[in-house]
Amino acid sequence: MNKQTLKDLDVKNKRVLVRVDFNVPIKNGVITDTTRIEASIPTIQYLIDNDAKIILMSHLGRPKGEPKKEFSLQPVADKLSELLKKDVKFVDNDNVVDDSVIEESKALQEKEVMLIQNTRFRKEEEKNDPEFSEQLSKLADIYVNDAFGTSHRAHASNVGVSKYLPSAVGFLVQKEIEVMGKALENPERPFTAILGGAKVSDKIGVIENLLDKVDTILIGGAMAFTFIKSQGKNVGKSLVEDDKLDLAKSLLEKAQEKGVKIFLPVDFVVAKEMTEDSESKTISVDEFTDEYAGFDIGEKTVKLFDEEIQKSKTIVWNGPMGVFEIAKFSNGTFEVANSLVKSDAITIVGGGDSASAIDKSGNKDKVTHVSTGGGASLEFLEGKVLPGIDCISEK
Ligand code: AMP
Repeated sequence: MNKQTLKDLDVKNKRVLVRVDFNVPIKNGVITDTTRIEASIPTIQYLIDNDAKIILMSHLGRPKGEPKKEFSLQPVADKLSELLKKDVKFVDNDNVVDDSVIEESKALQEKEVMLIQNTRFRKEEEKNDPEFSEQLSKLADIYVNDAFGTSHRAHASNVGVSKYLPSAVGFLVQKEIEVMGKALENPERPFTAILGGAKVSDKIGVIENLLDKVDTILIGGAMAFTFIKSQGKNVGKSLVEDDKLDLAKSLLEKAQEKGVKIFLPVDFVVAKEMTEDSESKTISVDEFTDEYAGFDIGEKTVKLFDEEIQKSKTIVWNGPMGVFEIAKFSNGTFEVANSLVKSDAITIVGGGDSASAIDKSGNKDKVTHVSTGGGASLEFLEGKVLPGIDCISEK
């Protein structure tokens, strides 16, 4: 990678402004998933150990450019302080940055950590406003982007600010782009992509880009039905994007031309309604009747996918195999998680749903990399340039 990384910079006694991704789920003032805060610790701890003065910034939720109490980063500051076993100075200023906040940053001592208020309390944030960006830059001598989850957006706190300071990527962003970059550019083969989720339309770019890189694509989730219907089959009441049938057909043809094997499910768990108490059964793909919809892949598909997964040396997974939020339709997704964990391939999981399935199966440590950014990792797999990384100084 040709971008500057943390270790390329001398941070001793410098004010280092770090854009982190503290966009965590909060219910009644309690953080329900601390993964993103934990993911930022290596960078913060490195800066502490190397005598920097640390200023952290992040967005949280969608306060729509105004200060709103329920989107305050206060609970995050408390949690971070607990994780670091160290005081975190929370600057509860609704302006996010102003002269007084800049003065506070100047008063920081080596190894001290400060967190400013939710950057989306200012409407200038999402507009990538130059004046707001410049003000943020006055908090520091160096800028570090460690927020992979927002790297596909160009906002003031992750892109605008980089114009005014020497910059580097943090350890989290570095790992994300190194692991995924290697998989895409120089994968160990066979290279398999497992794609699922609700819509083909969300994954068109990913499929098109991956057709030039992978050997095999396994397709599950509702998006499989658009492909199956495009082959002239009945899929009952299953979710289909009728306006994407031609596209699905042409993607299957392109795959064939390029010698990429695409596997679609051969059986499904079906029901009349998408509810826990609706009666369900497993049918083969050729047995759909009009009153049933498919909500999960069946056992035969699980086995078929597992065989392909075990043959692979690199695997990228994005999107659930069924309606995994409902227990009776969750088996396929969890079985794919288990297959992934069993394989000795390089395994990369992206997207919130797949990451949470891996997490719930208790196997987070057994995959090579769980991406912290859903949208960002999808855009990376699409081969797009991520503005939050593109803006960082070259080595
Ligand atoms: P995405 O956001 O595109 O990754 O899609 C995730 C959503 O797709 C999850 O909420 C799943 O419940 C949903 N999903 C997966 N399979 C199906 C299916 N067969 N029918 C309806 N929804 C599905």
